[in-house]
Amino acid sequence: MTYAEEDFIMISALQHYSFCERQCALIHIEQIWVENRATVEGKIMHERVHEEDRESRGDVRIEYGIPLRSLKLGLVGRADMVEFHRLDKDSWQPFPVEYKRGKPKVDHCDLIQLCAQAMCLEEMLSVSIPSGAIFYGRTRRRLDVSFDDSLRQETEDAAEKTHQLITSGITPPPVYEKRCESCSLMGECLPKTIQKRRSVKTYLTRIIGES
Ligand code: SF4
Repeated sequence: MTYAEEDFIMISALQHYSFCERQCALIHIEQIWVENRATVEGKIMHERVHEEDRESRGDVRIEYGIPLRSLKLGLVGRADMVEFHRLDKDSWQPFPVEYKRGKPKVDHCDLIQLCAQAMCLEEMLSVSIPSGAIFYGRTRRRLDVSFDDSLRQETEDAAEKTHQLITSGITPPPVYEKRCESCSLMGECLPKTIQKRRSVKTYLTRIIGES
């Protein structure tokens, strides 16, 4: 199965979905996006990367801001940076590198985003890409990422579920968790307030039903 172009979603939506379904819906269905210090710093970091065009360092060629798409996954986006490592006189191995402001996370949302970029490049260039890396601004280190079968399956599942969520047009209710403290949409989502209101409503509905 392949997706029609009008059904494409942003690669970044997979990262948002894997972090929190509600965050994905708020951004990609309700078009809510709030700038805060973290998002502005992230944006500046990406803009700095995209200011470059291309460069060469020995046997590595570097391309910045390459447009990406996958008909199979129904994705569109842009790669921060793709290194092309020379294999021999005529062939080069692509190696995508994504820039993130923070530090490595316990969940797989950043890995899924990078793997989706790699799968787009594979489809576009008809090559196989075994690995890439994420550069984290806070630790100033690269995290090497292997695109193994399990991460590829996770990425395909995330793409399918993100499509379903965005097509449904329904924003799921909030569930307050630790991740909410680092969410840029905490002020718009109001997870604690809405969850409390919902539990009061459920309680009243139950009491009324029992009487
Ligand atoms: S505040 Fe929490 S529930 Fe709301 S969008 Fe962010 S992570 Fe999701």
